[in-house]
Order: sequence, then C-alpha cells, then structure tokens
Amino acid sequence: CGVFGIWGHEKAAEITYYGLHALQHRGQDGAGVVATDGKKLKLHKGLGLVNDVFKHAKFDELQGRAAIGHVRYATQGDGGYDNVQPLLFRSQNGSLALAHNGNIMNGHKLRGKLEQEGSILQTSSDTEVLAHLIKRSISDDYEEAIMEALRQLVGAYAFIILKEDAMYIATDPRGLRPLSLGRLGDSYVAASESCAFDLVGATLEREVEPGELVIINKDGIRTRTFHEPEPRTMCAMEYVYLSRPDSDINRVNVHASRKKMGVELAREASIDADVVTGVPDSSISAAIGYAEEIGLPYEMGIIKNRYVGRTFIQPSQELREQGVKMKLSPVRGIVEGKRVIMIDDSIVRGTTSRRIVRMLKEAGAKEVHVRIASPSLQHPCYYGIDMSTRDELIAANNTIDEIAEIIGADSLAYLSEEGLERAIVREDLPNQGICKACFTGEYPVKERGQKEIEYTR
Ligand code: 5GP
Ligand code: SF4
Ligand code: MG
Repeated sequence: CGVFGIWGHEKAAEITYYGLHALQHRGQDGAGVVATDGKKLKLHKGLGLVNDVFKHAKFDELQGRAAIGHVRYATQGDGGYDNVQPLLFRSQNGSLALAHNGNIMNGHKLRGKLEQEGSILQTSSDTEVLAHLIKRSISDDYEEAIMEALRQLVGAYAFIILKEDAMYIATDPRGLRPLSLGRLGDSYVAASESCAFDLVGATLEREVEPGELVIINKDGIRTRTFHEPEPRTMCAMEYVYLSRPDSDINRVNVHASRKKMGVELAREASIDADVVTGVPDSSISAAIGYAEEIGLPYEMGIIKNRYVGRTFIQPSQELREQGVKMKLSPVRGIVEGKRVIMIDDSIVRGTTSRRIVRMLKEAGAKEVHVRIASPSLQHPCYYGIDMSTRDELIAANNTIDEIAEIIGADSLAYLSEEGLERAIVREDLPNQGICKACFTGEYPVKERGQKEIEYTR
C-alpha cells in the first residue's frame, strides 16, 4: 500500500490526489482521500485505480488545508469497498481518519479482544484496530492515546492519522515500512515514497525514524518517541522490487541500489553470452548494472505493454499467467540466434521467468541464462508484502537446479544475501539495517506463535 499526507495547503486534497498517482504502483485495488477544513473530515474513496476513483470526485467538496490519502493493495482483509482506506471514524468529540501501510501481526488477536469487550468493527482490515485502541485509551491526551495504542501493535506499519486539528505520522519500532517527510513551501508532507514529493513539487527532508511519532498542527511540527527505537530493518524488497526507481529510501536511491544489485550479481555469477536483457520495468536497473559490469550491451530484448497492470496483483494463477502473456513480448531482432542473459528482480512462483524463457526461446534465443538480482525467496513475509504462503514460493520447495529446469533456463543463479546487503546498505550512515527475512527466515519482529500459525493470505 501507499500513504500520503499534507498539512497546511489550500489545495490539500488535490495535492494528495496527485501524490497518490505517484504511489499508484504500490496498490491498485482501491484509493481514497480524507480532507479536513478544521471542523469536519470528508472522505472520497473507491475500488480501483486512482484515476477511476477520482474521475467524478468533486474536489470542492474535499475542502480544507489538510488531507491524507491511501492506495490499497489488498493483502489483509478482503478486497471490498469497506476496507478501502483512509478509514474514517466519526464520533461526538471529533473524527479520526487513518491510512496504513504494513501488517499488524497481532491484529487478529486485538480484534478478538476488542469484540469481546463490545466493539463493533466495520471492516475486516487490521488497520481498524488502531482506531479502536486510540478511542478506548484511558488518556484524555490525544497524543498519549495514540502512543499507548501504537505500543500495543506488533508488526510493520507506516501510519498517517488525521484529526480536525492535527496530523500524526508514525512508523513501527523497526522502521520496516518506508515513510518520508518533506516540505512544500510552508506546508508539511509525508509519503511512502519520495517520488510522490517530486510530483507535487515538494522536497524530501528525512525518513520517519523507527518508533517515532511526528505531530503536525497549527503550532508546527514536533516529534516524540512512542517506543524505544530498535535497530532499523527497512524492507529489502522495497529496493529490490516494490518502490519506484526515482524514490530515495533512507537516503539511498532505489535505481542506484538496483544497479548495484546487478553489479554484485555479475561479480558473483557471470557467464559467457551475447546480450543482457531485463524484464521491464522493475529489473531494468539491475540489468543495466549487470551488463555494465561484464562489458556487454544492455539490450531491450523484452518490451512491455504499458497498458496492462502489474501481473502479480491478480487474484488467481490463471489470470496471472494470462497477464504475463499480454504484458511482455520478446524483441526477435535482438535475441534471435543469441545467448541471452535474462535478469529479473525476483522469482516468487516462477510464473514470469517460465513464460519469459519460453518466449525468448520461441523468438530464437539460442540459450537463456536467468540471473536473479535478489536472493532466493523461501519464507513468507509477515510484514505486509504479499508473497502468500510458503507453499507457493517455488524456492521453498525446489533446489536451484530444479527451478532452472521448471522455468526452462539453461542456467540460473541468484544474488547472495551479502551481495544484496552491499547493494543497499550504506556503511557511512548510521542505522541503515534491512529486513531480509523472506530470504533468510530470520524475522526481526516476531509475534508469539508465529511459527505455529500457517500463514493464510
Ligand atoms: P513470479 O512470476 O515468479 O511469481 O513473481 C516474480 C515476478 O513478479 C518478478 O518479475 C517481479 O518483478 C514481479 N512481482 C510483482 N509483484 C511482486 C511482489 O510483490 N513481490 C515480488 N518479489 N515480486 C513481484
Ligand atoms: Fe520486506 Fe521480505 Fe522483510 Fe517482508 S520479509 S518486510 S518482503 S524484506
Ligand atoms: Mg518484474
């Protein structure tokens, strides 16, 4: 998912709408904006792409100098309208809107407790739990109430919360999900990725720190610590696959880190070939790095139909397979008779690689060597990235040789964990750690009983 917020701008809702466009790649199931004029909170949300949801939106009905927005990628809870964010809760002593990216691992448990104590939850999303916890806090001080509520959550989160008179921004104590702060003139902005700042003309200032609560209101901006910060473990997949190449996360540019993943991969697993190509769009940066490092040209061996959505975000395997076919095509003139190195950012189920190897061979490629610019994915993510169950991960159940055979590659190699670390982590900056749990199985945040519960999403 992607979140955006702005405080102190007369066109707050419109700017949020533009910000959501820049975050569209983070979720295509639904989108919404909540704006406030200081008296009321108004919501517009819907299922589908930002463009469709706001096609008939009347921005003059979303007036006010503060707004938050969300693009949804349905991982937790079902994909229905009720679960589209921001979630808006009204009550006699003021309203509350929430936008969340991540996954609350003890959400289910907390829901159970809340329901037992008489709460009626409107959605099946884990996000709603936070609103109830805030509301039920015994503290009358709103900041304290939010901090107390956040301390009860276990998991990964980037939250933007809007009230009539303040905006609150927080990330989990490990900083698993990205959340940046910026400025647009006199206004404050926050977004999952800095590419959203560029689009609206804002400048990136810094990342929200692990365990930090940022408070913005008429008096300006303040920061508090709601949880003793733990070493940062920013999601490595943000760099590998999820984020846009023009974003900076923790002062590391995503394109630059991907290019380095390609360079590291080339150092670890080069092979004699004629051309290097990448699977558009997410692996092009890595393919360029790989090609540069081994001194071969990077070629557009595969092109993408830009009017077909992300293949991964399809509800069934059949649709996903069809999606890949419609989305990617080989460039015969480039691959015919050639030994091709094909770079992809990751292999989850193997759908993409299998299709592409076949496609390249049908287009006349003599050999296809698959190089993956991240380590093999063997463990589920509990922190809000949809890689579904362990059963579906091809690398959890097969050796590298077996995978090569399944996808029809002449050879297959992955980037090492150390290579990934070197490509992302800057030694010259403090607290730059990354989460690699889906590769290593070492989870930075554990919920009691996590191992026993089979992951069902
Ligand atoms: P597969 O086709 O092996 O199931 O998935 C890997 C491909 O899906 C890669 O090309 C990657 O760019 C793309 N992809 C789309 N969404 C995701 C995601 O959420 N995680 C990962 N690791 N890859 C994804
Ligand atoms: Fe990211 Fe993988 Fe960690 Fe999930 S387990 S937060 S996808 S690095
Ligand atoms: Mg891809």
